[in-house]
Amino acid sequence: MTQSSFEVVIIGAGHGGVELAAALRQHKYEGSIALVSDEPDLPYQRPPLSKDYIKRAANTPALVLKPESFFADNAVDLRLGVRAEAVNRESRSVALSDGSSISYGHLVFATGARNRKPPVPGLDHTNILELRTLADANRIVQVLPNTRHIAVVGGGFIGLEAASLLRGMGIEVDVVEMAPRLMQRAVTEPMSAWFLGHHEGEGSKVHLSTSVAAVEHGSAGATVALSNGGSVQADAVLLAAGVQPNTDLAEACGLEVANGIVVNEHLMTNDPAISAIGDCAAYPSHHLGGMARLEAVQNAVDHARCVAERLTGQPKPYDALPWFWSIQGAARLQIAGLSRPGLTEIVRKGADESRFSVFLYDGGELVAVESVNSPADHMAVRKLIGSGIELTPEQAGDSGFDLKALISGRTAA
Ligand SMILES: Cc1cc2nc3c(=O)[nH]c(=O)nc-3n(C[C@H](O)[C@H](O)[C@H](O)COP(=O)(O)OP(=O)(O)OC[C@H]3O[C@@H](n4cnc5c(N)ncnc54)[C@H](O)[C@@H]3O)c2cc1C
Repeated sequence: MTQSSFEVVIIGAGHGGVELAAALRQHKYEGSIALVSDEPDLPYQRPPLSKDYIKRAANTPALVLKPESFFADNAVDLRLGVRAEAVNRESRSVALSDGSSISYGHLVFATGARNRKPPVPGLDHTNILELRTLADANRIVQVLPNTRHIAVVGGGFIGLEAASLLRGMGIEVDVVEMAPRLMQRAVTEPMSAWFLGHHEGEGSKVHLSTSVAAVEHGSAGATVALSNGGSVQADAVLLAAGVQPNTDLAEACGLEVANGIVVNEHLMTNDPAISAIGDCAAYPSHHLGGMARLEAVQNAVDHARCVAERLTGQPKPYDALPWFWSIQGAARLQIAGLSRPGLTEIVRKGADESRFSVFLYDGGELVAVESVNSPADHMAVRKLIGSGIELTPEQAGDSGFDLKALISGRTAA
Protein backbone atom coordinates (compact mmCIF):
# COMPACT_ATOMS: atom_id res chain seq x y z
CA MET A 1 0.00 0.00 0.00
CA THR A 2 1.28 3.50 -0.78
CA GLN A 3 2.48 5.25 2.35
CA SER A 4 0.25 8.15 3.34
CA SER A 5 1.98 9.59 6.40
CA PHE A 6 5.44 11.19 6.45
CA GLU A 7 7.56 13.00 8.98
CA VAL A 8 8.63 15.51 6.32
CA VAL A 9 6.67 16.39 3.19
CA ILE A 10 8.36 18.67 0.65
CA ILE A 11 6.25 20.29 -2.06
CA GLY A 12 8.39 20.96 -5.13
CA ALA A 13 11.42 18.99 -6.34
CA GLY A 14 13.58 21.76 -7.79
CA HIS A 15 16.97 22.87 -6.49
CA GLY A 16 15.63 23.58 -3.00
CA GLY A 17 13.37 20.56 -2.52
CA VAL A 18 15.92 18.00 -3.70
CA GLU A 19 18.73 19.57 -1.69
CA LEU A 20 16.56 19.48 1.43
CA ALA A 21 15.90 15.75 1.06
CA ALA A 22 19.61 15.13 0.46
CA ALA A 23 20.75 17.35 3.33
CA LEU A 24 18.35 15.68 5.77
CA ARG A 25 19.86 12.28 4.97
CA GLN A 26 23.40 13.74 5.16
CA HIS A 27 22.50 14.87 8.67
CA LYS A 28 21.44 11.26 9.45
CA TYR A 29 17.75 12.15 9.57
CA GLU A 30 15.89 8.84 9.86
CA GLY A 31 12.29 10.02 9.50
CA SER A 32 10.20 9.37 6.40
CA ILE A 33 10.41 11.94 3.58
CA ALA A 34 8.02 12.55 0.66
CA LEU A 35 9.01 14.82 -2.22
CA VAL A 36 6.08 15.88 -4.40
CA SER A 37 6.69 17.29 -7.88
CA ASP A 38 4.12 18.42 -10.40
CA GLU A 39 6.70 18.03 -13.18
CA PRO A 40 6.94 14.64 -14.92
CA ASP A 41 10.74 14.60 -15.25
CA LEU A 42 13.35 13.41 -12.79
CA PRO A 43 14.38 16.59 -10.89
CA TYR A 44 16.79 18.60 -13.02
CA GLN A 45 18.97 21.74 -12.99
CA ARG A 46 17.40 24.86 -14.46
CA PRO A 47 20.44 27.09 -15.20
CA PRO A 48 21.68 25.05 -18.21
CA LEU A 49 18.28 25.46 -19.89
CA SER A 50 19.12 29.03 -20.93
CA LYS A 51 22.78 28.21 -21.54
CA ASP A 52 24.16 25.03 -23.14
CA TYR A 53 21.07 22.86 -23.15
CA ILE A 54 19.29 24.44 -26.10
CA LYS A 55 22.43 24.69 -28.18
CA ARG A 56 23.56 21.14 -27.64
CA ALA A 57 20.24 19.38 -27.34
CA ALA A 58 21.47 16.60 -29.60
CA ASN A 59 24.28 15.96 -27.15
CA THR A 60 22.48 16.80 -23.94
CA PRO A 61 24.62 17.37 -20.85
CA ALA A 62 23.38 15.58 -17.74
CA LEU A 63 20.73 17.84 -16.25
CA VAL A 64 19.48 15.65 -13.44
CA LEU A 65 20.06 16.91 -9.93
CA LYS A 66 20.45 13.35 -8.60
CA PRO A 67 20.45 9.98 -10.35
CA GLU A 68 17.16 8.07 -10.12
CA SER A 69 18.74 5.57 -7.71
CA PHE A 70 19.41 8.35 -5.17
CA PHE A 71 15.75 8.59 -4.20
CA ALA A 72 15.25 4.88 -3.52
CA ASP A 73 18.69 4.49 -1.89
CA ASN A 74 17.90 7.35 0.50
CA ALA A 75 14.30 6.36 1.19
CA VAL A 76 12.92 9.54 -0.35
CA ASP A 77 9.42 8.88 -1.69
CA LEU A 78 9.56 10.91 -4.93
CA ARG A 79 6.15 11.46 -6.48
CA LEU A 80 6.52 12.78 -10.02
CA GLY A 81 3.72 14.36 -12.01
CA VAL A 82 1.64 14.88 -8.87
CA ARG A 83 0.49 18.30 -7.79
CA ALA A 84 -0.17 19.36 -4.21
CA GLU A 85 -3.61 20.94 -4.44
CA ALA A 86 -4.57 21.91 -0.91
CA VAL A 87 -3.04 21.97 2.56
CA ASN A 88 -5.15 21.35 5.65
CA ARG A 89 -3.17 22.74 8.59
CA GLU A 90 -5.53 21.34 11.20
CA SER A 91 -5.25 17.74 10.07
CA ARG A 92 -1.67 18.38 8.82
CA SER A 93 -2.41 16.85 5.45
CA VAL A 94 -1.89 17.65 1.78
CA ALA A 95 -4.42 16.76 -0.92
CA LEU A 96 -2.71 15.58 -4.11
CA SER A 97 -3.87 15.73 -7.72
CA ASP A 98 -3.92 11.91 -7.98
CA GLY A 99 -6.82 11.89 -5.52
CA SER A 100 -4.73 10.74 -2.56
CA SER A 101 -3.80 12.64 0.55
CA ILE A 102 -0.62 12.55 2.64
CA SER A 103 -0.14 13.76 6.18
CA TYR A 104 2.96 15.49 7.49
CA GLY A 105 4.84 16.14 10.70
CA HIS A 106 6.63 19.04 9.03
CA LEU A 107 5.74 20.57 5.67
CA VAL A 108 8.13 22.50 3.43
CA PHE A 109 7.07 24.71 0.55
CA ALA A 110 9.76 24.56 -2.15
CA THR A 111 7.34 25.51 -4.89
CA GLY A 112 9.61 27.95 -6.76
CA ALA A 113 8.22 30.50 -9.16
CA ARG A 114 6.40 30.63 -12.47
CA ASN A 115 6.72 32.99 -15.39
CA ARG A 116 4.94 36.30 -15.13
CA LYS A 117 2.58 36.88 -18.02
CA PRO A 118 1.86 40.55 -18.64
CA PRO A 119 -1.79 41.10 -19.65
CA VAL A 120 -0.96 41.97 -23.24
CA PRO A 121 -3.12 40.75 -26.16
CA GLY A 122 -1.42 37.83 -27.88
CA LEU A 123 1.12 37.10 -25.11
CA ASP A 124 -1.15 34.33 -23.82
CA HIS A 125 -1.23 32.59 -27.22
CA THR A 126 -0.04 28.97 -27.38
CA ASN A 127 2.71 29.94 -29.87
CA ILE A 128 4.48 32.05 -27.25
CA LEU A 129 7.68 30.37 -26.04
CA GLU A 130 8.76 30.39 -22.40
CA LEU A 131 11.86 29.21 -20.58
CA ARG A 132 11.25 27.94 -17.08
CA THR A 133 10.97 24.17 -17.38
CA LEU A 134 12.64 21.37 -19.27
CA ALA A 135 9.44 21.06 -21.32
CA ASP A 136 9.73 24.77 -22.25
CA ALA A 137 13.35 24.28 -23.34
CA ASN A 138 12.48 21.21 -25.40
CA ARG A 139 9.76 23.19 -27.16
CA ILE A 140 12.29 25.89 -28.08
CA VAL A 141 14.64 23.23 -29.45
CA GLN A 142 11.76 21.99 -31.62
CA VAL A 143 10.91 25.36 -33.15
CA LEU A 144 14.49 26.61 -33.68
CA PRO A 145 15.07 24.89 -37.02
CA ASN A 146 12.29 27.10 -38.45
CA THR A 147 13.33 30.26 -36.63
CA ARG A 148 15.44 32.92 -38.29
CA HIS A 149 14.25 35.83 -36.19
CA ILE A 150 13.05 35.84 -32.59
CA ALA A 151 11.61 38.58 -30.40
CA VAL A 152 12.59 38.26 -26.74
CA VAL A 153 10.20 40.01 -24.36
CA GLY A 154 12.23 41.02 -21.30
CA GLY A 155 15.82 42.18 -20.80
CA GLY A 156 16.50 40.39 -17.52
CA PHE A 157 18.88 37.49 -16.91
CA ILE A 158 16.89 34.77 -18.70
CA GLY A 159 15.93 36.88 -21.71
CA LEU A 160 19.51 38.07 -22.17
CA GLU A 161 21.04 34.61 -21.70
CA ALA A 162 18.65 33.35 -24.36
CA ALA A 163 19.45 36.32 -26.63
CA SER A 164 23.19 35.53 -26.54
CA LEU A 165 22.57 31.85 -27.06
CA LEU A 166 20.29 32.43 -30.05
CA ARG A 167 22.59 35.04 -31.62
CA GLY A 168 25.40 32.52 -31.28
CA MET A 169 23.26 30.15 -33.37
CA GLY A 170 22.90 32.76 -36.10
CA ILE A 171 19.33 33.77 -35.25
CA GLU A 172 18.31 37.44 -35.47
CA VAL A 173 17.24 38.72 -32.07
CA ASP A 174 15.20 41.73 -30.92
CA VAL A 175 15.08 42.25 -27.14
CA VAL A 176 12.18 44.39 -25.90
CA GLU A 177 12.63 45.80 -22.39
CA MET A 178 10.22 48.22 -20.76
CA ALA A 179 12.78 49.58 -18.25
CA PRO A 180 15.31 52.19 -19.39
CA ARG A 181 18.19 49.76 -18.85
CA LEU A 182 18.94 46.03 -18.93
CA MET A 183 18.65 43.87 -15.77
CA GLN A 184 17.52 47.01 -13.94
CA ARG A 185 16.13 45.10 -10.97
CA ALA A 186 19.44 43.36 -10.19
CA VAL A 187 22.47 45.35 -11.32
CA THR A 188 23.96 48.86 -11.24
CA GLU A 189 23.86 51.34 -14.11
CA PRO A 190 27.48 50.81 -15.22
CA MET A 191 26.80 47.07 -15.45
CA SER A 192 23.57 47.59 -17.41
CA ALA A 193 25.38 49.94 -19.79
CA TRP A 194 28.23 47.46 -20.35
CA PHE A 195 25.75 44.67 -21.13
CA LEU A 196 23.86 46.88 -23.58
CA GLY A 197 27.09 47.33 -25.53
CA HIS A 198 27.80 43.61 -25.22
CA HIS A 199 24.44 42.53 -26.65
CA GLU A 200 24.52 45.11 -29.41
CA GLY A 201 28.05 43.96 -30.19
CA GLU A 202 26.72 40.41 -30.54
CA GLY A 203 24.19 41.75 -33.05
CA SER A 204 20.99 41.81 -30.98
CA LYS A 205 18.70 44.80 -31.42
CA VAL A 206 17.77 46.11 -27.98
CA HIS A 207 14.65 48.26 -27.50
CA LEU A 208 14.82 49.97 -24.08
CA SER A 209 11.98 51.91 -22.41
CA THR A 210 9.69 50.00 -24.76
CA SER A 211 6.91 47.59 -23.93
CA VAL A 212 5.01 45.13 -26.04
CA ALA A 213 1.55 46.50 -26.85
CA ALA A 214 0.22 43.40 -28.63
CA VAL A 215 1.35 40.30 -30.46
CA GLU A 216 -0.48 39.17 -33.59
CA HIS A 217 0.04 35.60 -34.66
CA GLY A 218 -0.24 34.63 -38.32
CA SER A 219 0.92 31.95 -40.72
CA ALA A 220 4.18 33.88 -41.31
CA GLY A 221 5.02 34.17 -37.62
CA ALA A 222 4.29 36.98 -35.18
CA THR A 223 4.02 40.74 -35.40
CA VAL A 224 5.06 42.31 -32.12
CA ALA A 225 3.56 45.81 -31.79
CA LEU A 226 5.69 48.08 -29.60
CA SER A 227 4.61 50.91 -27.30
CA ASN A 228 6.67 53.40 -29.35
CA GLY A 229 4.57 52.70 -32.46
CA GLY A 230 7.16 50.45 -34.06
CA SER A 231 6.89 46.71 -34.58
CA VAL A 232 9.04 43.61 -34.88
CA GLN A 233 8.26 40.85 -37.34
CA ALA A 234 9.55 37.55 -35.96
CA ASP A 235 9.15 33.82 -36.49
CA ALA A 236 8.87 33.25 -32.75
CA VAL A 237 8.38 35.19 -29.52
CA LEU A 238 10.06 34.24 -26.23
CA LEU A 239 8.40 35.61 -23.11
CA ALA A 240 10.98 36.29 -20.38
CA ALA A 241 9.33 39.04 -18.38
CA GLY A 242 10.27 37.83 -14.91
CA VAL A 243 8.61 35.42 -12.52
CA GLN A 244 6.13 35.39 -9.68
CA PRO A 245 6.50 33.12 -6.65
CA ASN A 246 4.22 30.09 -6.36
CA THR A 247 2.41 31.12 -3.20
CA ASP A 248 -1.24 30.28 -4.00
CA LEU A 249 -1.31 27.07 -1.98
CA ALA A 250 0.30 28.74 1.03
CA GLU A 251 -2.05 31.68 0.84
CA ALA A 252 -5.09 29.41 0.55
CA CYS A 253 -4.18 27.66 3.81
CA GLY A 254 -3.78 30.96 5.63
CA LEU A 255 -0.02 31.42 5.71
CA GLU A 256 1.35 34.94 5.53
CA VAL A 257 2.29 35.90 1.98
CA ALA A 258 3.89 39.15 0.77
CA ASN A 259 5.87 38.78 -2.46
CA GLY A 260 6.68 35.24 -1.31
CA ILE A 261 5.74 33.00 1.59
CA VAL A 262 6.86 35.01 4.60
CA VAL A 263 9.32 33.20 6.86
CA ASN A 264 11.46 34.20 9.84
CA GLU A 265 15.24 33.97 10.14
CA HIS A 266 14.86 30.19 10.61
CA LEU A 267 12.83 30.01 7.36
CA MET A 268 9.74 29.03 9.35
CA THR A 269 6.32 30.37 8.36
CA ASN A 270 3.76 31.71 10.85
CA ASP A 271 2.86 28.02 11.37
CA PRO A 272 5.83 26.33 13.13
CA ALA A 273 4.99 23.06 11.38
CA ILE A 274 5.62 24.66 7.97
CA SER A 275 8.78 26.11 6.37
CA ALA A 276 9.40 27.71 2.98
CA ILE A 277 12.63 27.77 0.96
CA GLY A 278 14.05 28.98 -2.34
CA ASP A 279 12.36 31.17 -4.95
CA CYS A 280 8.98 31.03 -3.17
CA ALA A 281 10.22 32.30 0.23
CA ALA A 282 10.44 35.90 1.46
CA TYR A 283 12.98 35.97 4.31
CA PRO A 284 14.73 38.59 6.42
CA SER A 285 18.24 39.24 5.09
CA HIS A 286 20.62 41.50 6.92
CA HIS A 287 22.93 41.39 3.86
CA LEU A 288 20.15 42.87 1.71
CA GLY A 289 18.83 45.25 4.33
CA GLY A 290 15.30 43.83 4.83
CA MET A 291 12.91 41.19 3.54
CA ALA A 292 14.27 39.50 0.43
CA ARG A 293 13.03 37.00 -2.11
CA LEU A 294 15.73 35.77 -4.44
CA GLU A 295 15.72 33.68 -7.57
CA ALA A 296 19.06 31.87 -7.43
CA VAL A 297 20.37 28.36 -7.01
CA GLN A 298 22.66 29.30 -4.09
CA ASN A 299 19.68 30.77 -2.24
CA ALA A 300 17.54 27.64 -2.71
CA VAL A 301 20.35 25.27 -1.77
CA ASP A 302 21.51 27.22 1.28
CA HIS A 303 17.91 27.63 2.48
CA ALA A 304 17.48 23.87 2.18
CA ARG A 305 20.61 23.20 4.24
CA CYS A 306 19.47 25.64 6.91
CA VAL A 307 16.09 23.90 7.27
CA ALA A 308 17.75 20.46 7.30
CA GLU A 309 19.95 21.58 10.19
CA ARG A 310 16.95 22.87 12.13
CA LEU A 311 14.95 19.67 11.56
CA THR A 312 17.91 17.62 12.82
CA GLY A 313 18.27 19.61 16.00
CA GLN A 314 20.96 22.16 15.04
CA PRO A 315 18.97 25.36 14.40
CA LYS A 316 20.93 28.36 13.14
CA PRO A 317 19.47 31.57 11.76
CA TYR A 318 19.87 31.91 7.99
CA ASP A 319 22.50 34.49 7.16
CA ALA A 320 24.27 33.41 3.95
CA LEU A 321 25.64 36.07 1.63
CA PRO A 322 23.65 35.71 -1.60
CA TRP A 323 25.54 35.15 -4.85
CA PHE A 324 24.46 34.63 -8.45
CA TRP A 325 25.86 34.11 -11.89
CA SER A 326 24.67 34.62 -15.44
CA ILE A 327 26.35 33.62 -18.67
CA GLN A 328 25.55 35.81 -21.66
CA GLY A 329 27.71 34.73 -24.57
CA ALA A 330 31.33 35.50 -23.72
CA ALA A 331 30.33 37.50 -20.66
CA ARG A 332 30.24 35.80 -17.28
CA LEU A 333 28.46 38.02 -14.79
CA GLN A 334 28.92 37.18 -11.11
CA ILE A 335 27.24 38.97 -8.26
CA ALA A 336 27.78 38.68 -4.51
CA GLY A 337 25.38 40.65 -2.32
CA LEU A 338 22.99 42.81 -4.33
CA SER A 339 22.86 46.41 -5.46
CA ARG A 340 20.17 48.64 -3.97
CA PRO A 341 19.49 52.37 -4.07
CA GLY A 342 21.79 54.51 -1.95
CA LEU A 343 24.95 52.40 -2.23
CA THR A 344 28.22 53.93 -3.43
CA GLU A 345 29.52 52.39 -6.65
CA ILE A 346 33.28 51.99 -7.12
CA VAL A 347 34.36 50.76 -10.54
CA ARG A 348 37.48 48.57 -10.67
CA LYS A 349 38.83 48.23 -14.20
CA GLY A 350 40.10 44.92 -15.53
CA ALA A 351 42.99 44.16 -17.88
CA ASP A 352 40.83 45.05 -20.90
CA GLU A 353 37.35 46.29 -21.81
CA SER A 354 35.83 42.82 -21.48
CA ARG A 355 36.34 42.68 -17.72
CA PHE A 356 35.56 44.94 -14.79
CA SER A 357 33.80 45.01 -11.43
CA VAL A 358 31.57 47.35 -9.49
CA PHE A 359 32.23 47.30 -5.74
CA LEU A 360 29.29 48.53 -3.66
CA TYR A 361 29.62 50.29 -0.33
CA ASP A 362 27.00 51.12 2.28
CA GLY A 363 28.71 54.06 4.00
CA GLY A 364 32.21 52.68 4.55
CA GLU A 365 31.12 49.03 4.51
CA LEU A 366 31.67 46.79 1.48
CA VAL A 367 28.33 44.99 0.90
CA ALA A 368 28.31 43.69 -2.68
CA VAL A 369 30.21 43.27 -5.92
CA GLU A 370 29.20 42.78 -9.56
CA SER A 371 31.89 41.40 -11.87
CA VAL A 372 32.17 40.66 -15.56
CA ASN A 373 34.80 38.09 -16.50
CA SER A 374 36.61 38.86 -13.24
CA PRO A 375 36.15 35.80 -11.03
CA ALA A 376 39.02 36.82 -8.74
CA ASP A 377 37.21 40.04 -7.75
CA HIS A 378 34.02 38.09 -7.09
CA MET A 379 35.74 35.50 -4.91
CA ALA A 380 37.72 38.16 -3.06
CA VAL A 381 34.58 40.04 -2.05
CA ARG A 382 32.82 36.84 -0.94
CA LYS A 383 35.78 36.27 1.38
CA LEU A 384 36.03 39.89 2.52
CA ILE A 385 32.39 40.50 3.46
CA GLY A 386 31.94 39.64 7.11
CA SER A 387 35.64 38.79 7.54
CA GLY A 388 36.52 41.95 9.46
CA ILE A 389 39.23 42.78 6.86
CA GLU A 390 38.81 46.29 5.53
CA LEU A 391 39.01 47.11 1.83
CA THR A 392 38.73 50.87 1.43
CA PRO A 393 36.87 52.30 -1.59
CA GLU A 394 40.20 53.78 -2.79
CA GLN A 395 41.84 50.34 -2.70
CA ALA A 396 38.82 48.74 -4.41
CA GLY A 397 39.00 51.24 -7.28
CA ASP A 398 42.77 50.76 -7.77
CA SER A 399 43.11 47.81 -10.14
CA GLY A 400 46.76 47.50 -9.12
CA PHE A 401 45.80 46.87 -5.48
CA ASP A 402 46.35 43.19 -4.63
CA LEU A 403 43.08 41.78 -3.21
CA LYS A 404 44.55 38.31 -2.68
CA ALA A 405 47.38 39.72 -0.60
CA LEU A 406 44.89 41.68 1.51
CA ILE A 407 42.91 38.53 2.25
CA SER A 408 45.96 36.46 3.06
CA GLY A 409 47.29 39.22 5.34
CA ARG A 410 50.29 40.05 3.11
CA THR A 411 49.31 43.72 2.67
CA ALA A 412 51.00 46.20 4.97
CA ALA A 413 48.43 48.06 7.07
C1 LIG B 1 16.26 29.12 -17.56
C2 LIG B 1 16.75 29.44 -16.18
C3 LIG B 1 18.09 29.76 -15.97
C4 LIG B 1 18.56 30.07 -14.69
N1 LIG B 1 19.86 30.36 -14.51
C5 LIG B 1 20.33 30.60 -13.27
C6 LIG B 1 21.72 30.86 -13.05
O1 LIG B 1 22.52 30.93 -13.98
N2 LIG B 1 22.13 31.07 -11.77
C7 LIG B 1 21.27 31.00 -10.70
O2 LIG B 1 21.69 31.17 -9.55
N3 LIG B 1 19.95 30.77 -10.89
C8 LIG B 1 19.48 30.57 -12.14
N4 LIG B 1 18.14 30.33 -12.33
C9 LIG B 1 17.23 30.38 -11.17
C10 LIG B 1 17.21 29.06 -10.44
O3 LIG B 1 16.99 28.00 -11.34
C11 LIG B 1 16.13 29.08 -9.38
O4 LIG B 1 16.44 30.12 -8.47
C12 LIG B 1 16.02 27.75 -8.67
O5 LIG B 1 15.56 26.76 -9.54
C13 LIG B 1 15.08 27.87 -7.48
O6 LIG B 1 14.92 26.62 -6.88
P1 LIG B 1 13.56 26.28 -6.12
O7 LIG B 1 13.72 24.89 -5.61
O8 LIG B 1 13.21 27.36 -5.20
O9 LIG B 1 12.43 26.31 -7.25
P2 LIG B 1 12.29 25.52 -8.61
O10 LIG B 1 13.59 25.01 -9.10
O11 LIG B 1 11.48 26.38 -9.50
O12 LIG B 1 11.43 24.24 -8.21
C14 LIG B 1 10.11 24.34 -7.76
C15 LIG B 1 9.36 23.11 -8.20
O13 LIG B 1 8.12 23.05 -7.50
C16 LIG B 1 7.12 22.60 -8.39
N5 LIG B 1 5.81 22.94 -7.82
C17 LIG B 1 5.26 24.19 -7.70
N6 LIG B 1 4.04 24.11 -7.14
C18 LIG B 1 3.81 22.79 -6.89
C19 LIG B 1 2.72 22.06 -6.35
N7 LIG B 1 1.63 22.68 -5.91
N8 LIG B 1 2.81 20.71 -6.27
C20 LIG B 1 3.93 20.07 -6.69
N9 LIG B 1 4.99 20.70 -7.23
C21 LIG B 1 4.93 22.05 -7.32
C22 LIG B 1 7.49 23.36 -9.65
O14 LIG B 1 6.87 22.83 -10.79
C23 LIG B 1 9.00 23.14 -9.67
O15 LIG B 1 9.31 21.90 -10.24
C24 LIG B 1 17.64 30.04 -13.60
C25 LIG B 1 16.29 29.73 -13.82
C26 LIG B 1 15.84 29.44 -15.08
C27 LIG B 1 14.39 29.11 -15.30
